[in-house]
Amino acid sequence: MALSFSSPEQVGFCGDDIIEEINRDPGFGQYFTDHMAVADWDPEAGWHSDRIVPYAPFSMDPSAAVFHYGQEIFEGLKAYKRADGSIWLFRPRNNAIRFMNSARRLALPELPEADFIKSVTALVTLDARWVPGADEQSLYLRPFMVASEDFIGVRPSKKAMYCCFASPVGAYFKSGVQPVDIWVTKTYSRVGADGTGAAKCGGNYAASLMPQEVAYQNGCSQVLFVDAATHTLVEELGGMNFFLVTAAGELVTPELNGNILPGVTRDSLLALAPSMDLTPVERSVSLDEVLEGLAGGAVREVFACGTAAVITPIGSLRAEDGEHAAPGDHEVTLRLRQRLLDIQYGRVDDPFDWTQKVC
Ligand SMILES: *Cc1c(COP(=O)(O)O)cnc(C)c1O
Repeated sequence: MALSFSSPEQVGFCGDDIIEEINRDPGFGQYFTDHMAVADWDPEAGWHSDRIVPYAPFSMDPSAAVFHYGQEIFEGLKAYKRADGSIWLFRPRNNAIRFMNSARRLALPELPEADFIKSVTALVTLDARWVPGADEQSLYLRPFMVASEDFIGVRPSKKAMYCCFASPVGAYFKSGVQPVDIWVTKTYSRVGADGTGAAKCGGNYAASLMPQEVAYQNGCSQVLFVDAATHTLVEELGGMNFFLVTAAGELVTPELNGNILPGVTRDSLLALAPSMDLTPVERSVSLDEVLEGLAGGAVREVFACGTAAVITPIGSLRAEDGEHAAPGDHEVTLRLRQRLLDIQYGRVDDPFDWTQKVC
């Protein structure tokens, strides 16, 4: 039976004045809206008890499986406010389907696509006051699922909880669209072959955080990971996909080999490429090719992309052997970024029908 995520509440708690003040400079992921969507699962009843309730801490048993074995998945998507005040999602079906794929890999129950979309649209509609409307602002939505059975034996949990909450956000990087320096590590891997690399799960992030500390210590904001098996092929960042723009006019990104998260932003840029005089290419990309290409001019630009930060130009790749600058003006990167934002905010045609109106 389809879930409805209906809510007895029709009002929020925060005053409009407080929301307005928060939304003047929301930062990223610091403030949360009045409500959250929740549903529970067990093998007998399936998904049930779908509801929208005030945003509040959970009460969970200390033995709940998620606390011990990390059986958890999540998603990230945004609601965008247009100039006319209407609120839209960007390709939410892709997030819903990816959430089902992640669930399968983590031995969690699949939340049907329609129920995922309903939870998001119900929450956004109820908390519409919270969607900020200034340039590059949006309401970030964080659906997630945890194994909630109180049992510390090692097997897939027989209970799960789904939740989606929302956070008004501004630009991901405080300094605006500045090229960032990226640390390339061969010392640590994020995922291994046939592991959970293609699933959006907390465990992958847990593995990426210590290398990210190393990146900070080296003056970089993020890590670029290479494949765990040979340490020669570029994969992705801790939470963003990786692209290069070649002198031959190609938009190249590592192919989805099971270790790489299939990003919605990644897919969207590949689809937009031909209309921007770029040839989209998905193939394996060696680190040597990238570093030599930057030095020799065959690689013109490099950037990272994901829903949270949209597209971030990369100014240099730093590794133990030194710094490899990406010279140039990031012209193609910034053009792609603008085009994507223009579609997301409804400022230009949406040729692929990617945007979906909520309210
Ligand atoms: C979420 C995520 C991305 C970006 O995916 P989008 O759908 O574009 O937001 C890239 N890499 C990893 C590891 C991720 O978790």
